Amino acid sequence: MFEVDALQRLPDELNKLGKSRALILTTPNQAAQGEEIVNMLGVRAAGLFDQAMMHVPLASLTAATEMAKELQIDCTVALGGGSTTGLGKALAAREGIDNIVIPTSFAGSEMTDIWAVTEADRKVTARDINVVPTLTIYDPKLTLTMPPGFAAVSGLNAMAQAVVNVATDKPNPIISSLAVEAIRALAHSLPLIINEPDNLDARAEALYGASMAGGALGTGITSLHHRLCHTFGGTFNTPHAETHAILLSHSVAYNAAATVAGTQKVANAMGVENAALGIYELAGKLGAPTALNEIGIVEEDLDKAVAVTLEKPLDNPEPVNAGRLKKLLTAALHGHTPVAS
Ligand code: NAD
Repeated sequence: MFEVDALQRLPDELNKLGKSRALILTTPNQAAQGEEIVNMLGVRAAGLFDQAMMHVPLASLTAATEMAKELQIDCTVALGGGSTTGLGKALAAREGIDNIVIPTSFAGSEMTDIWAVTEADRKVTARDINVVPTLTIYDPKLTLTMPPGFAAVSGLNAMAQAVVNVATDKPNPIISSLAVEAIRALAHSLPLIINEPDNLDARAEALYGASMAGGALGTGITSLHHRLCHTFGGTFNTPHAETHAILLSHSVAYNAAATVAGTQKVANAMGVENAALGIYELAGKLGAPTALNEIGIVEEDLDKAVAVTLEKPLDNPEPVNAGRLKKLLTAALHGHTPVAS
């Protein structure tokens, strides 16, 4: 469901789905919004769990699971960004609980079958069709409260999901067309959001782009770029969207020679000549971080990042080896212009 004020339809929609004991999920930052949903749902709300955390740490999942069992819930309603959506998805995967998602960022997770949990320093992801939400309610108004810096990186996170499915050596025409449309919408709307934060049309366009990008990732591929982001998120606890924003231009440059036609399509959708450079410049224009050293990574972390990235086999257009990865990450550490490694 996608429209301004769609949130108001939640009680009716729960009714239609036959749900009468919803557990509302939020992060601590959005607990007050969670309370509003509890009040809106009245007897249909079984409770509020406001401890969703980035990368779904096992402790948070365990606490939510205990609360879900104690309250005998029949669904979750996740209101928030990808972290909260991720908790709802993990509960769906592990406990078979139906999940309803109300996205408030541009993470796009609600459109994918990918779920994750982070335990002992490793973020483990898996695909499971059962984690795709029973219902997603997109209300562009809910993105108005995103701090501008977060809107920028969250939008670039969505952009990444689309870009890897266009700049690929395994193009799929259906996924590609979703992804190209997502790239066009995001490249157009994100600068508008930064310059005119109250522009609801721009927010709706970015949310639409994020939904399409998630749709592309959900049925398409992940590759080196997502592996790198999960390495940094799981092992160094870097913020997810910022990590995407910093690394995307570098991973596109890395794969450019093996994905010439696709990379050109990305550039065309963005209205630029060079995709990697265009993404790097867009990040700068949005005020997003462009260097890993801005999010706490230091030179000494890079060897571990390379080793964790290569722990499992990786399907990527360009062959991946430790030397080339280190070169990519060194450029990203300092925020240098992306070049093929
Ligand atoms: P997030 O959900 O952690 O949100 C960051 C902070 O911003 C949180 O405190 C959140 O409550 C707050 N926030 C979100 N929307 C807001 C709003 N409108 N107003 C005010 N505050 C708001 O960050 P994210 O980047 O949206 O999600 C990151 C997580 O999502 C990561 O764990 C990532 O792995 C996951 N993710 C998963 C997929 C997938 O397909 N499985 C896709 C994208 C992201």
